[in-house]
Amino acid sequence: MPDVSPAAPRGHAPSRPRSCDVVVVGAGPSGASCAYWLAEAGLDVVVLEKKHFPREKTCGDGVTPRAVRQLEAMGLADEIASHHRFIGLRAIAFGRELDLEWPRHDDFPDAGYVITRAELDALVAGRAEKAGAELRQGTEAIAVVGERPGPARGVVVQDHDRDLIEEIHAKVVVVADGANSRIGRALGAARDRDVPLGMAIRSYHSSPRADEPFIESHLDIRDREGNAVPGYGWIFPLGDGRVNVGLGILASDDRLKGINTTKLLETFIDFAPSSWCLSAESALCAPTGGRLPMGFAVGPRVGPDYLLIGDAGGSINPFNGEGIAYGYETGRLAAEVITGALAAGDLGVLASYEERLEARYGRYYRVAAAFMALMMRPALLRRFISWGMHSKTFMASVLRIMSNMLREGTVAAPELAYRVAARLLDRGGTARLPANGSTLPR
Ligand SMILES: Cc1cc2nc3c(=O)[nH]c(=O)nc-3n(C[C@H](O)[C@H](O)[C@H](O)COP(=O)(O)OP(=O)(O)OC[C@H]3O[C@@H](n4cnc5c(N)ncnc54)[C@H](O)[C@@H]3O)c2cc1C
Repeated sequence: MPDVSPAAPRGHAPSRPRSCDVVVVGAGPSGASCAYWLAEAGLDVVVLEKKHFPREKTCGDGVTPRAVRQLEAMGLADEIASHHRFIGLRAIAFGRELDLEWPRHDDFPDAGYVITRAELDALVAGRAEKAGAELRQGTEAIAVVGERPGPARGVVVQDHDRDLIEEIHAKVVVVADGANSRIGRALGAARDRDVPLGMAIRSYHSSPRADEPFIESHLDIRDREGNAVPGYGWIFPLGDGRVNVGLGILASDDRLKGINTTKLLETFIDFAPSSWCLSAESALCAPTGGRLPMGFAVGPRVGPDYLLIGDAGGSINPFNGEGIAYGYETGRLAAEVITGALAAGDLGVLASYEERLEARYGRYYRVAAAFMALMMRPALLRRFISWGMHSKTFMASVLRIMSNMLREGTVAAPELAYRVAARLLDRGGTARLPANGSTLPR
């Protein structure tokens, strides 16, 4: 990519560019969390958001205990407590129904919330601002400063409100611009196409059951012709008369084009339990969808002076399509690494981000990758689920693994099953996360 001074600035940029310690591109879960932790550490942070809060974001709105833990750490426990709380997951498949309460875990709360992203993301971005980050809304990063390949040095931004193009210079650039990551691609990041991609779609409906204390997952979804689809459908109650209805599927690149998620969602709504009263008439908006870059299949995630976090780095959990918690976590982790690097005056320290990702997620995401391979074989998966749905204990173990709530050092069924799977993969497989080629020498 060439040096990116855009063609014709329409407004007058300030005579000297704004210079800061860190510029964060995107104020979704990952960017806002990173900005919060950087500001808390006393750094000069600018966080850019191309839209204005509160803004819509296509999502299932499911905030799991893992995400709640991070929100609490950012001091938002009271703010989220007024939203719809759920105590577990109702799994439905092959005519059976299991109410699975959230697994108990010393480090995580035992409930989650369903919160629209318009509200949730505004809350966290506001928190980052309160901690001292400069939040620039309506400001889009359109390019990276400097020659490519090379250090980022900062970004060129378009301030849509003032109709102005200017540069923001920074010691470190954090790329948190989501699944379609324009800035990540400008820096040379790409998705590993051997890893299947998730796709998801959702809509809001009115429903008499919008106060349910469980979120609902349908594990044997089919297309109109009755063929099994590798994925699941969900109904997440918002507690205000609305439910978020959607589905997520997994597909290899060559199958992606043939999939019509809108039609699959219509079919799911037709076959959902009638007690939810879902139909074309109960729909409150047209469905919207998006991609789920998972399993850390996007990289390199580290450059000489930049890091990729959240969906921009493919951090979604392949077991369940959950990305909010991993956005918060990778944002926080990146903030810790950057704080250390700037304190040491050595940007080489940024390379340790990849090592820390590997240490925290490597093994788990490799087991998840094996699960993805199972998902791509629907007949086998269906046999596994139809057998599993006969035992609440078994499915509770599956939930503990899939929600990444395993207890270290515990000798119990889910932890043992996980450890056996991980050891088998350690022996036969790769020992690193995919797409981890840092642009720094190791
Ligand atoms: C249909 C669907 C349902 C989902 N359901 C769930 C769920 O229930 N629970 C869950 O945990 N996860 C869910 N996910 C995944 C989750 O939405 C993502 O993993 C999460 O949003 C990732 O956060 P992020 O901050 O990395 O990116 P985003 O949330 O995409 O945030 C990126 C932000 O950057 C801004 N931006 C983009 N480009 C620029 C730019 N150039 N300059 C400035 N700003 C920019 C965007 O406006 C946006 O605010 C779902 C995803 C989809 C598609």
